[in-house]
Amino acid sequence: MTANAPITQDVLTLPRKLPEGGKINLVGLTRDQLRETLIAHGTPEKQAKMRVGQIWQWIYQWGKRDFAEMTNLAKAYRADLDEHFEIATPEVMSKQVSTDGTRKYLVRIAGGHEVEVVYIPEEGRGTLCISSQVGCTLTCSFCHTGTQKLVRNLTAAEIVGQIMMARDDLDEWPVPGAPKDETRLLSNIVLMGMGEPLYNFENVRDAMKIAMDPEGISLSRRRITLSTSGVVPEIARTAEEIGCLLAVSFHATTDEVRDKLVPINKRWNIEALLEALRAYPRLTNSERITFEYVMLNGVNDSDEDAHRLVELIKGIPAKVNLIPFNEWPGSPYTRSSNNRIHAFANIIYQAGYASPIRTPRGEDILAACGQLKSATERARKSRKQIEAEAGLNP
Ligand code: SAH
Ligand code: SF4
Repeated sequence: MTANAPITQDVLTLPRKLPEGGKINLVGLTRDQLRETLIAHGTPEKQAKMRVGQIWQWIYQWGKRDFAEMTNLAKAYRADLDEHFEIATPEVMSKQVSTDGTRKYLVRIAGGHEVEVVYIPEEGRGTLCISSQVGCTLTCSFCHTGTQKLVRNLTAAEIVGQIMMARDDLDEWPVPGAPKDETRLLSNIVLMGMGEPLYNFENVRDAMKIAMDPEGISLSRRRITLSTSGVVPEIARTAEEIGCLLAVSFHATTDEVRDKLVPINKRWNIEALLEALRAYPRLTNSERITFEYVMLNGVNDSDEDAHRLVELIKGIPAKVNLIPFNEWPGSPYTRSSNNRIHAFANIIYQAGYASPIRTPRGEDILAACGQLKSATERARKSRKQIEAEAGLNP
């Protein structure tokens, strides 16, 4: 391991209750935590289980934010709840809609930090790409998020809150009594926004458990994909404690190149990563591991790379998702040509693996993979650039 490899996770998660003595947010609590919280604020223990069930449904099944609307609770109890608690989700600061229908939200969380959330509508499904951290402690050289200095973990509330916020915007909370609509606008979740989800494991896990709870948002674990850059020790836990699908930011076929592109490789190299992936339980073929591979012109896109990749993943039920590099202001790489990407895809396909080429979505609003970065941070960067151009910053 290289001593200065940027692989630490010395970031903090802000406490649920901010010091000013504000109300406690009930969003993001597990059922057990919700029970304890209610009891601690006067709900009789005997009633707690039932109250948890009722409040849970109002929050996660019906999308209610106001205790006054929880009509199966006594009026006095509702007032009581309102005194101590709130149901809060991240605040939407701005929303951009791409010409292709992709929606990018900038949301504000406690401390004034901002994260981006992207909704991608597709034929028959809609995917929400959510963030797990503000920025990222890792510094993958092709990723815009990795250039952001500021990092903090999101709380479970802030993670599941992104899903609730999107359901608000899509107007997708069911109406009590109305027939169930099976075609969901928001049908899939990918943890592919800002941050390394496995460096914020507990909060990501709790948030996904809430999203999967059958008495709430009720997303199947097969509709949730967690993308990791390769935090090897947490991969087995992901299977055990979350049970969602896994995607891995592979991006290179030799340690030499992967060390440069995905620096966490200096801590857990390709061999260690593959070993963890071989052990990841897969029950059906639809639960294959997704190998994400960003196509960088002249860096990792040769025929030899494709052949090596096929050799490396041998024996792992896998699909290879080829991501044409999305450029961002100042990015050090360029995108491989379409011909190159197709030739690469073909070698993998011939070897028996699905090798879809991802269509960049929302490029006009910088919503594509690896382009996410908060507006505040962008503003800071561009001011620096402006200063440099003006000769203020030699
Ligand atoms: N931190 C996690 C999840 C977020 S990144 C991870 O790295 O897996 C989601 C995907 O987008 C990753 O595969 C990442 O490598 C890829 N990505 C990052 N920057 C990109 C860019 N500029 N162009 C294309 N893909 C990029
Ligand atoms: Fe972090 Fe993933 Fe970007 Fe790497 S690719 S810097 S792990 S968000």
